[in-house]
Amino acid sequence: MADVLRVCALYPDLMNIYADRGNLQLLRRRAEWRGLGFQLSGVGFDDELDPGQHDLFYMGGGQDRDQVLCAEDLATNKRAALQQAADEGKVIFGVCGGYQLLGHAYELDGTKLPGVGLVDLETVREDGPRLIGNVAIEVDLDGSKNVLAGFENHGGRTRLGAQTRPLGRVLKGHGNDGRSGHEGARGGAHGTVVGTYLHGPLLPKNAWFADWLTATALHRAVSDLEPLDDRFEDAAHAAARRAAGI
Ligand code: GLN
Repeated sequence: MADVLRVCALYPDLMNIYADRGNLQLLRRRAEWRGLGFQLSGVGFDDELDPGQHDLFYMGGGQDRDQVLCAEDLATNKRAALQQAADEGKVIFGVCGGYQLLGHAYELDGTKLPGVGLVDLETVREDGPRLIGNVAIEVDLDGSKNVLAGFENHGGRTRLGAQTRPLGRVLKGHGNDGRSGHEGARGGAHGTVVGTYLHGPLLPKNAWFADWLTATALHRAVSDLEPLDDRFEDAAHAAARRAAGI
């Protein structure tokens, strides 16, 4: 069993709005508090992505112009490595702009940005207001239900393919498209490719979910992770739920 969590941040300078970097800090701190090692690598344009070197791949949110800059490189130079990682049950976690690029395409202003195609979904920038606000969703991860609470701000509307599972059911907020009641997506051969519109940063508000990502990336059960004193994390979760009206 690996005792080092090796995280790869994809385009960390570009795909990082709303303090998405805080998600990485939380993963680091919780790993270190448990006596696990933590390695963080950033992979950008022209960098080779070796799927064997990482357990968890992370891509944060980005403005449309940031996505335009990295979509082509992601879809051409990183696709095979990410597909291999997903096939091996590694965690690939995308937030907002990063989530959109896990699908087939993001269509905006009459052009289609290619996605990396790990999950059967597509995003379209329709006319209409941005979907903004506090949000809470109910997530069922392998039989245990919990609430994920955060903040969303996206112009794109994401439609899931017929066989694609959403990450959760919208309790408050807009979710994927403001209509379907679905939020996020979960796919890949082992269900380890996960996307969500929730920012926040998300993980400091939902430490339970960070633990699921960590455990899954290390091929362990959450119950195998050493328990931590989560008084502050529980308070942050409760505050995020309250903000969303749950
Ligand atoms: N640019 C994308 C959109 O507006 C993603 C935004 C984000 O990452 N917050 O839909």
